[in-house]
Amino acid sequence: MSIIRTIDDLHAGYRRFRAGRFLEAQDRYRLLAEDGQQPTVMLIACCDSRADPAMIFDAGPGELFVLRNVANLVPPPADDNAFRSTSAAIEFAVSVLKVQHVVIMGHAQCGGVRAYVDGAMGEPAPGRYIAQWASLLKPAYDNVPEGLEAHEAAKVLEREAIRHSLMQLNAFPFVEERVKDGTLQTHGAFFGIATGVLEWLGPAEREFQPVS
Ligand SMILES: [Zn+2]
Repeated sequence: MSIIRTIDDLHAGYRRFRAGRFLEAQDRYRLLAEDGQQPTVMLIACCDSRADPAMIFDAGPGELFVLRNVANLVPPPADDNAFRSTSAAIEFAVSVLKVQHVVIMGHAQCGGVRAYVDGAMGEPAPGRYIAQWASLLKPAYDNVPEGLEAHEAAKVLEREAIRHSLMQLNAFPFVEERVKDGTLQTHGAFFGIATGVLEWLGPAEREFQPVS
């Protein structure tokens, strides 16, 4: 397997894609260019290089509408004029593309989650933007039992954060409306990097269950 470390490696990877997967799916790409995208699933995932949704779900072009941010967080609805890229992407997927499913996928060993836990335990944050963004984890962290070691607390928070982000997601009026009329479902998922196990939290479920 080739490893990407340099820009030359990146270009070599592009050439393999162009001569391989792009060529195989060329008709599909052309149709997608002409007709536009019509994905039915939005995936909200972490920026982490080990948890790539397209790879994990074996998805082709035009199939997944993907948003990635640090720790796959959904902020609460807001009326301010801040630059809200996550909320804009959700609005576009739900109101314009009319996706049928939104999946929030977290993962094990999440650096964003760990940064929040370390911060809560007195370690200085690695940067102001990270600290501000990760503070969205506060309400989820309140559900983590006290007295855990940092890595244990992070493990619990990784799943709690998904539950909390689902709650925030469902609170956007345009999401709530479509969930109510039965045209949209919201799900949680959790990817174990070392094991490859994907756990699922369906709209009506209370606990994550491994996908068999
Ligand atoms: Zn992460």
